Amino acid sequence: MDCMISKFVDAVEQREMTMVRKIAVIGGGVTGTSVAWHLASRDAGEIVLLERDRLGSGTTWHSAGNITWVPGSDHILTLFDTLDQVARESEQDTGWLWTGRLFLARTEKTLDSFRSMAVAADAMRFENAWLDPQAAAERHPLLHGDRLAGAWFNSRSGRVNPADLTAAYARAARRRGVTIREGCNVTGLDIRNGRVKKVCTDDDDIEVDDVVICCGLWSRRLLSQLGLLLPQWGCEHFYVIARTDQRLDRTTPSFVSPNDLIYGREEVGDLLLGCFDEGALTLDAEHGAPPDDFSFSLLDDNWDKLAPYAERAAEHFPALEQAQIRRFVNGPESFTPDGEPLLGPFGNIAGLHVASAMNSAGVTYSALAGHVIADTITEAAEPKFNPQPYAADRFAERACDESWLREKASDVVSGHYRERFES
Ligand SMILES: Cc1cc2nc3c(=O)[nH]c(=O)nc-3n(C[C@H](O)[C@H](O)[C@H](O)COP(=O)(O)OP(=O)(O)OC[C@H]3O[C@@H](n4cnc5c(N)ncnc54)[C@H](O)[C@@H]3O)c2cc1C
Repeated sequence: MDCMISKFVDAVEQREMTMVRKIAVIGGGVTGTSVAWHLASRDAGEIVLLERDRLGSGTTWHSAGNITWVPGSDHILTLFDTLDQVARESEQDTGWLWTGRLFLARTEKTLDSFRSMAVAADAMRFENAWLDPQAAAERHPLLHGDRLAGAWFNSRSGRVNPADLTAAYARAARRRGVTIREGCNVTGLDIRNGRVKKVCTDDDDIEVDDVVICCGLWSRRLLSQLGLLLPQWGCEHFYVIARTDQRLDRTTPSFVSPNDLIYGREEVGDLLLGCFDEGALTLDAEHGAPPDDFSFSLLDDNWDKLAPYAERAAEHFPALEQAQIRRFVNGPESFTPDGEPLLGPFGNIAGLHVASAMNSAGVTYSALAGHVIADTITEAAEPKFNPQPYAADRFAERACDESWLREKASDVVSGHYRERFES
């Protein structure tokens, strides 16, 4: 009898070992395509990616695509390797360009707060440099040093084209066997006995063992159908493209000025100028998400919101005073109360995972998101990253309070720079 039971157990274990895990990734932005590729790279199972419109049609298409290494963010070093590997596998250019980044300081105190980054860069033997105001201005044709105490140059920075990177992740994923279905709208999830069973779409129901919600701004709305409230809220987030008399070279370093809450880079010869504004406007829509048909859309221009940051930017880049603003890109993005993304299992439902709320760094976080999800689903013995700081349920009940969530999400936008650097 014992022998029969043990044979039965062996047979069940054997079946489980040979059963191919069915995984659905919902959302085809930079996050979803990266998650699909990382899962496929680990042979995690049979993977389908479902995107209701076209790849990159959510927030990804208008992202500024800056990537900046800062100490303690090993995932960014991983991302640099990932960019190479994905470009090779997909045989597609991601638009990646090392430009380096100037960290501008108006005060000695701010300059001093860059010091820990310089120490870490030295320790890792990354090229970096302290620049006096004049030397800083020599690195950027539009920059005047008059208002600067100095600057720090970080070579481990650059920019990528987010739409091209998304296409490259998708192409590399397809080559590894992932099925990608564009124009496939997910309407809900079928949950039974505490486990996710099916993904329901406008066209069919798909049986799954695991599902990963990578729906960006819309993740919270989709999950709310299950009575689950994902702690993220959409905020307005914007940059402009300014044309000055002088065209910029593509290799011009990008910049950030934490005192002014501004950042920028070259964009097709023009200057892209963005900010992490104080009192960022939260989206006044159900679950903080724009309508479902918002694909490739933007919010209204908000010149009043831009004005104080443009004025401060013009103090460093006087050519901006006469510049022609060619484009205002006001795109919604989802933020969490602590500025970290939501990655991993959610809602105590077996097989349910999220990779959402990228706090205006989804391109930068794309490799991190891919690894954390792949580690969880494959139950990796040695996870690549510690998933705890990103645990999707880390806010518990507090995040169900919508007004608290909105207030925190708004604060996080400017907190991005305010809390990291002294002024
Ligand atoms: C102005 C601005 C500048 C930025 N600059 C940078 C930057 O310099 N560097 C950086 O790293 N990040 C930047 N970001 C942030 C970055 O763009 C986002 O974090 C990233 O694009 C989010 O990608 P995602 O895949 O998570 O979401 P999305 O790109 O929004 O993708 C979600 C996808 O899910 C799909 N979807 C939604 N619901 C469903 C459903 N029910 N069924 C099927 N599909 C569905 C949507 O159609 C969409 O394609 C910026 C953002 C903004 C707004």
